Amino acid sequence: MNFDVQQLLRDNIRRLTPYSSARDEFTGQALINLDANENSLGSPLTKWYNRYPDPHQHLVKEAISNIKGVSAQNIFIGNGSDECIDLLYRCFCNPAKDNVIICPPTYGMYEVSANINDVEIRKAPLLDDFQLNLAHIETLIDEHTKIIWICSPNNPTGNSINRQDIEMVLNNFNGIVVIDEAYINFSRQKSFVQELPEYPNLVVLQTFSKAWGLAGLRLGLAFAAADIIQVMNKVKPPYNISQVAQELVLQALKEVEQVNDMITELVSMRDALSEVLAQMPVAEKVYPSDANFILVKIKEARKVYEFLLSKSIVVRDRSNVLLCNDCLRITIGTEQENTALVDALIEWMNRNKQ
Ligand SMILES: *Cc1c(COP(=O)(O)O)cnc(C)c1O
Repeated sequence: MNFDVQQLLRDNIRRLTPYSSARDEFTGQALINLDANENSLGSPLTKWYNRYPDPHQHLVKEAISNIKGVSAQNIFIGNGSDECIDLLYRCFCNPAKDNVIICPPTYGMYEVSANINDVEIRKAPLLDDFQLNLAHIETLIDEHTKIIWICSPNNPTGNSINRQDIEMVLNNFNGIVVIDEAYINFSRQKSFVQELPEYPNLVVLQTFSKAWGLAGLRLGLAFAAADIIQVMNKVKPPYNISQVAQELVLQALKEVEQVNDMITELVSMRDALSEVLAQMPVAEKVYPSDANFILVKIKEARKVYEFLLSKSIVVRDRSNVLLCNDCLRITIGTEQENTALVDALIEWMNRNKQ
């Protein structure tokens, strides 16, 4: 392998002098803060938010570092994973020149973000078993290929990607390999976070939006070698994580046990719902899931989708997505919500005499 972050970067990013904020230039405890044009009189709230937040989220990174066993210099915090995805394009991909590889069906933001940044997308669709087509990926790589996106467990298929296949890509591609682990807490597979020291080209994405139950806070994580994290820090907006988000996630990070209990409960409801669905004639195939959702091939998926909507139940219609013909993606809800879904499907079958 011949991987060199500095060589992979866009020239303008390599040369970039980052914005230096008031909080960067003075980090001690001052009595009188007259450096950042904040409102010194306070906020129109009982709790004050008149000061700019820590641009480097030191306390949050320390707490994450303790939980994950990864040093703070290998952690980047984004305004959702979506910000991390966009930043990776802006750091590494020259518009109208470079390309990236995605493996559809997969998470839509890799492609949308590429289009926003005018970066060419090359597609190596997953095989019929939803695993990587390594031979196809290999044929797509050229000297302008900067990133390969791998989502594991994959959205919307729900399966984990074979570890050996991912290792093959990591060991043979001289660009960035992103493994999006948004659903890793629900998986039987091990995270790649512990492998960071082995792979200078690895970026692992995780999020507080799924297992942690904090989608509304907008907090995503990138784990990578320190030189990659440094580049992302240089390019990010200075105050990308609000004071409120930093305070609340610090509180949440003390409740690992409660989160683990929710994960256990969601996984057991997922497995139970999968079994129930598999017994239903309307479900032609229930795909195995390593996530907090289930992909189900349904007879007349669009009609079932609309029937569920009429019952105020929203699932995700993936029936027009490559390899997901006639499929609905169903998120695991509460016990009650899952029962309501099953009851609605039974009603549909009775009406249609299936
Ligand atoms: C939900 C999801 C995310 C999370 O995005 P956030 O911006 O952190 O909310 C990332 N990747 C995949 C594959 C997802 O399904």
